[in-house]
Amino acid sequence: MIVFRTGVILCALAAAACQSNKLDVYRKPINTPSAALAEDSTKASPTEETETTESEGYGYRLSDITPAQRPTTGTVEGGIWYQADKAEVKIARSGKRIKDGPLPAYVEKIVCTLAGPYCDDIRVYVVRTNGFNASMMPNGALIVQSGFLIRVRSEAQLATVLGHEIGHYLRRHSLKRTKDTVTGANTAAWVGILLGVPLGPQVFANLREFSRDHEREADGYGLLLMSRAGYDPRQATWVWDRLVRIVGPEAIKERKRYNFMATHPTSPERSKALRIIANELEERGDVAAEPIDGFVEYQNVMAEYRADFIEDEIADGNFDELERLLEILIGDGENRAELLFYRGEIFRRRGKKKDPEQAMFAYNRAFRAGTPPPEIHRSIGLIHFKLKEFDQATEHFAKYLELKPDAKDASIVKSMMGAGT
Ligand SMILES: [Zn+2]
Repeated sequence: MIVFRTGVILCALAAAACQSNKLDVYRKPINTPSAALAEDSTKASPTEETETTESEGYGYRLSDITPAQRPTTGTVEGGIWYQADKAEVKIARSGKRIKDGPLPAYVEKIVCTLAGPYCDDIRVYVVRTNGFNASMMPNGALIVQSGFLIRVRSEAQLATVLGHEIGHYLRRHSLKRTKDTVTGANTAAWVGILLGVPLGPQVFANLREFSRDHEREADGYGLLLMSRAGYDPRQATWVWDRLVRIVGPEAIKERKRYNFMATHPTSPERSKALRIIANELEERGDVAAEPIDGFVEYQNVMAEYRADFIEDEIADGNFDELERLLEILIGDGENRAELLFYRGEIFRRRGKKKDPEQAMFAYNRAFRAGTPPPEIHRSIGLIHFKLKEFDQATEHFAKYLELKPDAKDASIVKSMMGAGT
């Protein structure tokens, strides 16, 4: 029943947009031609009107695309999809794609829950790249970056952004956005953006901008889909607030840190708008009495990957942001020993004057918090080694190799043992 009020919800979010015809589509019965599609001169793929009924929850048009629909070849949208298909093949084969372990299937499961009848139309690719981003390609390929996964705390928070991206797909925003910019460069651009390859500014600019109206719509969809799936829509605001805390207000203002921030409105207005919609959904009783949070499930899945993702962030060298991120993750309370070890790693790798002491302080806290990764002994050994305290260095190197006999760097570490004797 949430669907009936979608127009109102979105209007609450985007009053200006609702004055135009664009969002009136939500108030019209499914068989009334969509104002948005009527505006679309390309008529690339006439949407077959789905004869759904009120009882199915689709009494009003929810999307501009039907399940399993593909655009006709030779149309603008057909061309865009063709480019997207080519880009998708590259992403599917990319070495950065995460195929192993529970994470890809877990994200797919949540996408399916949110997307409902569109489950089979959306293909999920989890890729190992820094930065907070998830991105929907026009053909339904959804790319989820590891830098985004490390920055959210629970399944519900993950669902917030996935729902937003599914919203872009359902409303065919990519067609509306890129119908004027169908060029051969698109394949390279998509792959480049998603895998972090630097691009020419113009190519990038053409592809990255959804309009503000589209973003508001996608936000509305995100909250709607997550409420229907049993999640708490207020999580959307909390994700945003968390992100602001991690990147810092300056970066938010400059909108330069992540693709997601460059392409999504970052004003406080957005956070406020998300809260208004969430409250409305709650007032109308559309939020589950006990919404799914999925903190434990999410943390369990992430446990296998988190250290690698943090290593990637360290390699990126953005230590200030990583420090804030780790503080927040430490506050979440999962495996604090591992996080405190990485807190120490920031200081050790940064190498400013007082950093070795700060690193040792964090390592000691890590031992008190539980069982840190074996690498902590290598790190402590390296600090001693640098200070020419070779006996202590050797002791810790030996401990590291004892705990991790098959370490890839075993021979290097061995060569450092016994120095100074
Ligand atoms: Zn968006």
